[in-house]
Amino acid sequence: MPKTNANAKIPGSVTSPVCQSEDTYLDATLRPKEFKEYIGQDKIKESLSITIKAAKNRGDSLDHLLFYGPAGLGKTTLAHIVTREMQTNIKATSGPALERTGDLASLLTNLEDGDILFIDEIHRLNRTVEEALYPAMEDFHLDIVIGKGPGAQVLQLNLPRFTLVGATTRVGLLTNPLRSRFGGLYRLHLYSEDEIKQIVFRSAKILGIPIKTDGAEFIAQCSRCNPRVANRLLKRVRDFAQVKGNGIITREIAKKALKMLEIDSLGLEGIDREILRVTIEKFNGGPVGVQTLAAALGEEEDTLIDVYEPYLMVLGFFTRTPRGRVVTPKGYEHLGMKCVDSLF
Ligand code: ADP
Repeated sequence: MPKTNANAKIPGSVTSPVCQSEDTYLDATLRPKEFKEYIGQDKIKESLSITIKAAKNRGDSLDHLLFYGPAGLGKTTLAHIVTREMQTNIKATSGPALERTGDLASLLTNLEDGDILFIDEIHRLNRTVEEALYPAMEDFHLDIVIGKGPGAQVLQLNLPRFTLVGATTRVGLLTNPLRSRFGGLYRLHLYSEDEIKQIVFRSAKILGIPIKTDGAEFIAQCSRCNPRVANRLLKRVRDFAQVKGNGIITREIAKKALKMLEIDSLGLEGIDREILRVTIEKFNGGPVGVQTLAAALGEEEDTLIDVYEPYLMVLGFFTRTPRGRVVTPKGYEHLGMKCVDSLF
């Protein structure tokens, strides 16, 4: 499904996990269709399989589910797999697309018992629509207000027993009443290098790209623990291999291709290094408030929080403290700079 590009200021950023226009086709082609094709996230797969089996045995619809974690980790994919396992249908939308209660009503009234409504970026629902969702999730009815002022009337619509599957990169922004209405909350984790290597091999096989083990390993190492980034890098390296090599992806070819794209062996791009450099040079390595840092970088605060910080923190280069963002000694080291006055 089309997704908002929260990363609009940096459309060329190859390692951004946020869905870009070039990914729409790639995502659809490579999206695993069943649990056994879905690599990693074993605990989630196991727990979901049990929930699905139990619901099917009871002949019941599935509890409402919430998937959360950074972009590109497979939340949408899981929603589609769950739909397939439940042998039902899915309607997909996103928080910002549901502007009025009427938009929600037209989606919900067109569902059938057991169907799945997938709302991506559910933390971006507006308050009115969110409040309309509460009775829909709990008692399967929707209150529609017709007219205004003293003559206004409330029309109660009965809804099919649908399952809401929400996805969010910012679970902390969900209100308690909404969060508490989900029967299952699943946090997706960043993938290990080995899991990403398996994803690269799987994608290469589907796309018919010849790839050596050391080539897949190098791409995995630079993919920021993220399947969407891995698939995008695979495609870029494939192009490079076809033009500058014999079409086969080896470590050597992957290394050259990523060097040309200015991605280092940890998967960092210019903007990542800029975040570390600006924090060090302008704010003495931190602590600096995220708003101030975003303004100094000319980036959106959300992009900084959702797109860049998670991976810099995974690498141990950057931390969030109650007083603000701080570059760690390891972060200084990566830039070849000396940390003289640190909180650590
Ligand atoms: P999200 O909804 O979290 O942004 P998606 O579900 O759209 O992420 O996943 C992005 C792409 O990454 C998918 O099209 C799929 O090809 C790939 N992908 C994600 N998770 C996995 C996985 N566990 N195994 C294999 N491929 C995956």
